[in-house]
Amino acid sequence: MSDNAHQTDVIIVGAGPVGLFAVFELGLLGLKTHLVDILDRIGGQCAELYPEKPIYDIPGIPVCTGQELTDKLMEQIAPFDPQFHLSEMAEELTRLDNGHWRLKTDAGTVLEAPVLVIAAGGGSFVPKKPHLEGLDDYEGESVFYAVRQMERFRDKSVLVAGGGDSALDWFIALQPIARKIALVHHRDGFRAAPHSVEAMRAIVAEGKGELHIAQMKGLEGTAPHLTGVRLEGKETGAFVHECDMLLPFYGLTMKLGPVAEFGINLEQNLIPVDTAKFESNVPGIFAIGDINTYPGKLKLILSGFHEAALMSQAAFKIARPGERLRFQYTTSSSELQKKLGVR
Ligand SMILES: Cc1cc2nc3c(=O)[nH]c(=O)nc-3n(C[C@H](O)[C@H](O)[C@H](O)COP(=O)(O)OP(=O)(O)OC[C@H]3O[C@@H](n4cnc5c(N)ncnc54)[C@H](O)[C@@H]3O)c2cc1C
Repeated sequence: MSDNAHQTDVIIVGAGPVGLFAVFELGLLGLKTHLVDILDRIGGQCAELYPEKPIYDIPGIPVCTGQELTDKLMEQIAPFDPQFHLSEMAEELTRLDNGHWRLKTDAGTVLEAPVLVIAAGGGSFVPKKPHLEGLDDYEGESVFYAVRQMERFRDKSVLVAGGGDSALDWFIALQPIARKIALVHHRDGFRAAPHSVEAMRAIVAEGKGELHIAQMKGLEGTAPHLTGVRLEGKETGAFVHECDMLLPFYGLTMKLGPVAEFGINLEQNLIPVDTAKFESNVPGIFAIGDINTYPGKLKLILSGFHEAALMSQAAFKIARPGERLRFQYTTSSSELQKKLGVR
């Protein structure tokens, strides 16, 4: 046991729909969970890739959007009080002498538990980067692809790049604390939610932020300290926008990332599991959802939900050795209903 570690029953890597539903199934069995996700929001692909698209094949829900499904799952798991560690990448895994897992994130958070569940989907989302010479040299000091601590941007001149939800959300959120804020997008049309576009345009109309319809062409400064970004617009021509922070939000792609280093067997970047428990080749490490593979696997949310239920039964036996597990229905079990707070 480490002094500064969060102790829990189950660590879940990935707060996508399957990781979230695992909280529910584990919670019914009395197991506490901590979840780690590299994204700054909960919901995995549903929230990040298609929040407003309709899903038609969730059992019992004829239609809901990716975000609505995420919100409903959050409501469903609320009684179990899961602890989220967002904007943190699960990076390093070690086995302790007592057989428990010790997971360290890139933000230094340490979690310890007898069970590790990998619900990492297609892997961690990594940012698509703009093609700008020398960009890497400014990363971590002047160029960021996620906002982990808003305070870092206080009193800075920030240029946000992109036209989607992340770009507009951060333009809006950072405006009150930044010394100066601007948004650059290659066209005067935005993919972000209409209310965000409205809020962004209001900030610009009130003179509290700038909007540049232009392409980014280059960086100015002495790396890693940025002094400006060279922009070129059809109407404005080429000019330098002075700023000391650049936040490009050009979308995300998925890479397996550190999970590949956890010492688990992989098959084409997926984790082979047995279909009775959804355990990997390493006892105590389970894999559910899009990250796993087995004969007949379908990468569907409903498959992941089923996998979460079976995994939870097996996880219970590891987390509570010697305790008896009774199969119960939520409809009729007063014990389960108490856990759910409905009785
Ligand atoms: C456009 C689109 C439409 C779809 N439509 C449907 C549909 O109609 N019906 C359906 O059933 N399915 C649909 N799917 C598929 C569905 O979204 C996936 O099956 C589902 O999201 C898988 O859930 P998951 O929880 O396993 O993984 P994900 O949703 O991928 O979540 C995994 C999470 O793990 C995190 N993560 C990964 N590695 C790490 C790490 N090392 N550290 C920290 N965090 C990490 C990621 O950031 C991510 O948030 C669709 C997919 C797309 C792209």
